[in-house]
Amino acid sequence: MVGAAGLILTQVMCNGMNRSLVSVLFGGALGASSVAGGGGGEYTNITSCSVEECALTLEAAERVVIVPGYGLAVAQAQHTLREVTRMLESAGIDVAYAIHPVAGRMPGHMNVLLAEADVPYEQLKEMDQINPEFPAADVVLVLGANDVVNPQAKSDPSSPLYGMPVLDVQEARTVFVVKRGMSAGYSGIKNDLFELVNTSMLFGDAKKVLGDLLVELKDLGLGKK
Ligand code: NDP
Repeated sequence: MVGAAGLILTQVMCNGMNRSLVSVLFGGALGASSVAGGGGGEYTNITSCSVEECALTLEAAERVVIVPGYGLAVAQAQHTLREVTRMLESAGIDVAYAIHPVAGRMPGHMNVLLAEADVPYEQLKEMDQINPEFPAADVVLVLGANDVVNPQAKSDPSSPLYGMPVLDVQEARTVFVVKRGMSAGYSGIKNDLFELVNTSMLFGDAKKVLGDLLVELKDLGLGKK
């Protein structure tokens, strides 16, 4: 039973990364011979913002998409996230969660994490379902996710991520990326999303940032209706 479950999870992971089992086992996590090849480089044009700015943008939004990643699990921020999304919903803002099949460190990691925080199952949207909906999103909040939102996977054939299915968050009007610094994700490569004009970095531990966001949203009067 355990062996069979492991095989199924491995198969799901390989499909999610669009990699063969052989390339995952022997070619590095993403089938790349070296992360220093395509996809590397320094960041030159980063815009960062405050929690206040993020709260104001969220308050004015009609549709918000949350993208959870490994960092959300590390921070154990799922319950604070749920408080934030409850507050947005109470203000009539439509909230959905975009679930990438290999976000986190095992298939289904994000589903389990969000279920723990009582996120309604109907709000979880698989990658294929949510990707066409990003252009209609006012705000995308990326929480501790990195590789699964890297546009290089579609735009840069020299990138080690090239060919891995990703969430097209850059299509939304505004993207906030919550993470502690500029360190790379599991793949070890640069993320072009962070330099786009519609992206703002919101630096900090995911739980702390979401806690601060909750306070700001309350100050703006959300959650009183
Ligand atoms: P990533 O590993 O790409 O990125 C996680 C990000 O979280 C980091 O960039 C890190 O940045 C940030 N982070 C870490 N701690 C915190 C914190 N406390 N608060 C806020 N942010 C934090 O995660 P993704 O979920 O996007 O991608 C998963 C990756 O794992 C993919 O490459 C996938 O292929 C791989 N993988 C997935 C498996 C699966 O089955 N799901 C199995 C094996 C690998 P910073 O340090 O700057 O905060």
